[in-house]
Amino acid sequence: MGVSTKNWAGNQRCLPQGVHTPTTTAEVAAIVRTAAGAGERVKVIGGAHSFTDIAMTDGNLLSLDGMNRVLGGGGPDGLDVTVQAGIRLYDLNDELAARGLAMPNLGDIDQQSIAGAIATATHGTGAGLGNLATTVVGMEIVTGDGSVRRTDEHDDSDLLSVARVGLGALGIVTEVTLRCVPTFNLHAVETIEPLAAVTANFDQVMHGADHVEFFWMPGARRCQVKRNTRTDRPAEPQSKMAYIRDKWIAENLAFGTVCRVGRRYPKAAPRIAKLITSAASERELIDRSDRIFSSPRHVRFVEMEYGIPLDAVPEAIERVGALVSSLPFPPLFPIEVRVSAADDIPLSTANGRPSGWIAVHQYIGTPYESYFQGVESIMDDYDGRPHWGKLHFQTAATLSGRYPEWQRFQNVRARLDPMGTFANAYTDRVLGPVNDTAID
Ligand SMILES: Cc1cc2nc3c(=O)[nH]c(=O)nc-3n(C[C@H](O)[C@H](O)[C@H](O)COP(=O)(O)OP(=O)(O)OC[C@H]3O[C@@H](n4cnc5c(N)ncnc54)[C@H](O)[C@@H]3O)c2cc1C
Repeated sequence: MGVSTKNWAGNQRCLPQGVHTPTTTAEVAAIVRTAAGAGERVKVIGGAHSFTDIAMTDGNLLSLDGMNRVLGGGGPDGLDVTVQAGIRLYDLNDELAARGLAMPNLGDIDQQSIAGAIATATHGTGAGLGNLATTVVGMEIVTGDGSVRRTDEHDDSDLLSVARVGLGALGIVTEVTLRCVPTFNLHAVETIEPLAAVTANFDQVMHGADHVEFFWMPGARRCQVKRNTRTDRPAEPQSKMAYIRDKWIAENLAFGTVCRVGRRYPKAAPRIAKLITSAASERELIDRSDRIFSSPRHVRFVEMEYGIPLDAVPEAIERVGALVSSLPFPPLFPIEVRVSAADDIPLSTANGRPSGWIAVHQYIGTPYESYFQGVESIMDDYDGRPHWGKLHFQTAATLSGRYPEWQRFQNVRARLDPMGTFANAYTDRVLGPVNDTAID
């Protein structure tokens, strides 16, 4: 008898035929071998923080929460750390800090598993920095027949290159080796600035600090800009009271209340949205990098995020603003704009191009479809690539032309998982059936 599983946002659910909690690679391999022998499907769920059904299955669901240890270090200057794939980012960050190390860049929460985060090309912001998967220099993977493959920069490096962003479709990742950096502090400065000035100088603004992002409530004149700069200065964190006020009360409790009112009284939503914008404040602090990057998120929402060429971002933002003014139900959340460097991972959303990210959100239980569909059709005009873990309406047919190395991925998939053991409804939609698309 299966156990119902749902994701963080609560918009995806599944009833797997079996739930497994292996603690070793050998156990994972045995589960895959048995399932594949019976023609059943297998899927790992990480932190369940994807908004899509990418981690859902009616087959066998595995949680690697019991595989969360740091296994050892090595590599050039001792910067490489090998971890079990189920480790959550919050544990990883503490373990790395204890070793004098850190991830070079992170997104805005720390609840994901490392394998789940890299599988979807999870990213932070920083014009000179890639997504989390770009730090991976080694992996251990259980493939479709239950065999265990190891890959690193020297051994089967072609597999490593492709498997870093695998959408959970190539196999079960059991170990990951990350190339880290020495631990660092970030100087965070948050300001309120006119949107027109930010978009008119977009390139300069986004290259103006190591990590820059901004939040804009469509319809508002001003936006909140966050600039995080690496610093040798010691930490000057917020007081506990200030942290509770900003992160718990303003960003979660008060924001959640405002969103609930907006959901109940849709006509008041535009005024509510303005209230949310005006509540954003300016602040400055220095802290350990991961403590600046991530924040608690308790107000549930759904999200879509597109990567587009950097120079298209200002125009795309203007078009999203025009779209919002025509919506019957305006968004209660601001749009978020980030950037990242190009990389060479076939199915990374930043493959081959420096990317600007435009993320749109809507409060859970509030209409979002016409908003997200409208944004998606704008992003289509820029050859947009949707975040694999966030809502979108694309299919293999619409996506294949947007990834120059699409075929390389499909060939590896056909080799590692010829029976489609790791397929689910999401991979059927966005990748198509295994083998159908493989070329010898
Ligand atoms: C509040 C919130 C904030 C977010 N912030 C950001 C952000 O700042 N930047 C960003 O880019 N994204 C962000 N995301 C999206 C999130 O990072 C991704 O969806 C990520 O994939 C979630 O990781 P997870 O561990 O929860 O994986 P899951 O959602 O559980 O799974 C994602 C995929 O990984 C696969 N997977 C998991 N473990 C393994 C394994 N061991 N082997 C093979 N495949 C595996 C799953 O099968 C599935 O295909 C956010 C999401 C939420 C809800």
